[in-house]
Amino acid sequence: MKPSPFEYVRPGNLEEALAVLARDPDDSKILAGGQSLVPMMNFRLARPARLVDINRVPGLSGIQEAGGRVVVSTLTRHLALQETDLPGALGHLLRRAASHVGHLPIRTRGTFGGSLAHCDAASEWCLVARLLDAEMTVRSQARGTRTIAAADFFQAVFTTAMEPDEILVSVSLPALGEGYTAGIAEFARRAGDFAIVAATAAVRVEDGSVTDARVCLGGVAEVPFRSAAAERTLLGQPWSPELVTAAAEAAATEADPPSDAHGDAAYRRDLVRALLPRALGRPATGAAR
Ligand SMILES: Cc1cc2nc3c(=O)[nH]c(=O)nc-3n(C[C@H](O)[C@H](O)[C@H](O)COP(=O)(O)OP(=O)(O)OC[C@H]3O[C@@H](n4cnc5c(N)ncnc54)[C@H](O)[C@@H]3O)c2cc1C
Repeated sequence: MKPSPFEYVRPGNLEEALAVLARDPDDSKILAGGQSLVPMMNFRLARPARLVDINRVPGLSGIQEAGGRVVVSTLTRHLALQETDLPGALGHLLRRAASHVGHLPIRTRGTFGGSLAHCDAASEWCLVARLLDAEMTVRSQARGTRTIAAADFFQAVFTTAMEPDEILVSVSLPALGEGYTAGIAEFARRAGDFAIVAATAAVRVEDGSVTDARVCLGGVAEVPFRSAAAERTLLGQPWSPELVTAAAEAAATEADPPSDAHGDAAYRRDLVRALLPRALGRPATGAAR
């Protein structure tokens, strides 16, 4: 398949990119890694009149730590996140999540920001962003810079709160300090496929009790699903294998997954029961996962 004809623009800086977008936002698309957009164009599911390639825009790549936050710039490739030496629970979660994204060529080209902007409910980065209440920084020529909370950012399948004239510039995540562990577990039919169900979790355990609990599931709703029931089950309780099982049951009961060719709702609930304990880890040892 070949895409319909389009104009290709390669701005040299962010202001130029924003100016091109501002001229005709509804018919222009940002090109980042191209790993989702190009296949969609080849299938003619997307027919933008113009591609704005931001790959030569300086300052849009890298991972920076400052003041208890970690800022991931939009063009940071999946592979760079897989290879980051960021310490602690966040570093561990980023490396593990990245290792689940597609295959090596996809991880080499595809970007963190492109994944979030694409907004697939099973995408590892969408789950991590929602799990950690990430803050998305977006820019436009008309309105300058604004920040969107992850809870508002993911609106529906392939739909975010960004306007068509906006570029996602960077994403801020909490560093997950002392006492935190975090993990991801997922099931896909073939290595490299999008997960049928994915589970992410982050918990802080202090003096044997859970003082922060975050659970986010993929593949059970149109957008990443924070399980309030699982989080309530965990919070304030002694950290134990029984607690982990109870949290997984709460999440499976609360979720209302779709049925489709990849699996029905009951199957997806069973996957939640199996995967969430793996994402939460083994309380007895607090071992890395
Ligand atoms: C075979 C295959 C398997 C895959 N498996 C997985 C998987 O298991 N998990 C997973 O998460 N992903 C998977 N992917 C998708 C991959 O992660 C993509 O890299 C990602 O979805 C999009 O990132 P990209 O940089 O390639 O964005 P692009 O394809 O360039 O863009 C995607 C969309 O986001 C918009 N966009 C991109 N950057 C910005 C920005 N900075 N601001 C505003 N809008 C922007 C584009 O206009 C477009 O609409 C897979 C892809 C393939 C081809």
